[in-house]
Amino acid sequence: MYKVKAYAATHPASPLAPLAIERRDPTATDVRIEILFCGVCHSDLHQVRDEWHGAMPTVYPCVPGHEIIGRVTAVGSQVTRFKSGDLVGVGCLVDSDGTCAQCRAGLEQLCAAAVLTYNSPDKHSGGVTLGGYAESIVVDERFVLRIPSSLDPAAAAPLLCAGITTYSPLRRARVGRGTKVGIVGLGGLGHMGVKIAHALGAHVHVLTTSPGKRSDALRLGADEVIVTRDSEQMRRHAGTFEFILDTVSAEHDINAYLNLLRPDGNITLVGAPSQPFTIPAFSLLMGRRSLSGSVIGGLPETQEMLEFCAEHAITADVEVIPIQRINAAFERLQRSDVKYRFVIDMASLRGLA
Ligand code: NAP
Ligand code: ZN
Repeated sequence: MYKVKAYAATHPASPLAPLAIERRDPTATDVRIEILFCGVCHSDLHQVRDEWHGAMPTVYPCVPGHEIIGRVTAVGSQVTRFKSGDLVGVGCLVDSDGTCAQCRAGLEQLCAAAVLTYNSPDKHSGGVTLGGYAESIVVDERFVLRIPSSLDPAAAAPLLCAGITTYSPLRRARVGRGTKVGIVGLGGLGHMGVKIAHALGAHVHVLTTSPGKRSDALRLGADEVIVTRDSEQMRRHAGTFEFILDTVSAEHDINAYLNLLRPDGNITLVGAPSQPFTIPAFSLLMGRRSLSGSVIGGLPETQEMLEFCAEHAITADVEVIPIQRINAAFERLQRSDVKYRFVIDMASLRGLA
């Protein structure tokens, strides 16, 4: 075991503060990574504040962070895919059983024994996993991704969660040239969804509560912007969308978006508000509409997404911050005031920036 500096929450209402944590010495199949950058996902905020108490209660101290980019500094004796000095990424997963049908199909995110990067039972430590708001991390090589050299490391960090979480359902829905796609919520996930759907050739509409994000939405690749609080704009698009990706982090009326689907259209939910939805049967029956969910993506698809982003020169629009500003960043994330992903420069934790 060795000690590293990290930032942790100790209580749902406490700000994040410095904490020394322990990492294991690499096993034969482990990779040790010096963390250079870590994105700030709204899931970090939900988890730190214990907003998902029913489904995923938070164990404190909680070190969040699952959009990790770093350099390999050590590898175990059986590691074959990585060597010291490689630029690598770690997303939301750090382990799974490796043997079930889902794992064999490369869908590790659906494995019943999937271990998340933080707040999951950790078989090595006996506690819970601790995430990327830290100097370094030790991860089994199966869960380490190669970062294409053409991508800027800070701007690539959000691909590890926001990128794959939007890429996977867009591909699964076979979004392609001319598909009328709606992206609800222009935040971290939403802005990646716009870039990826645009690169897939879709006719992309951003559905936003923030009229001030209009010009950004168009710059990011949207063809049209719908301000969802304007009932006339919503009425004009009723019954026309083939596919809508809902990335909203807070309570909202999903029926307003279901009403935008054309017959057999689908809304896929990736946003994870803490409150349940109320959906009248007729919101789904009429037009044979469907509502489904999606959670991140498996390792092969995450690597595929990274290559896709390299090919299309896609990264996140980021505001790089020192870790000492994480609590202010959380407050701004809560107010939807981020353009469009905070990324922590981990040199600040080492006292280097
Ligand atoms: P974010 O950057 O805070 O973006 C969320 C966006 O939702 C905001 O920018 C805002 O966009 C919109 N919004 C906020 N409050 C709203 C309200 N009351 N009504 C309507 N729209 C509202 O968050 P994020 O990091 O993209 O994460 C979004 C959600 O996805 C979170 O719940 C997170 O936990 C979840 N998530 C899920 C997965 C998965 O695997 N399924 C992975 C990562 C994250 P506008 O200003 O444009 O309206
Ligand atoms: Zn995330």
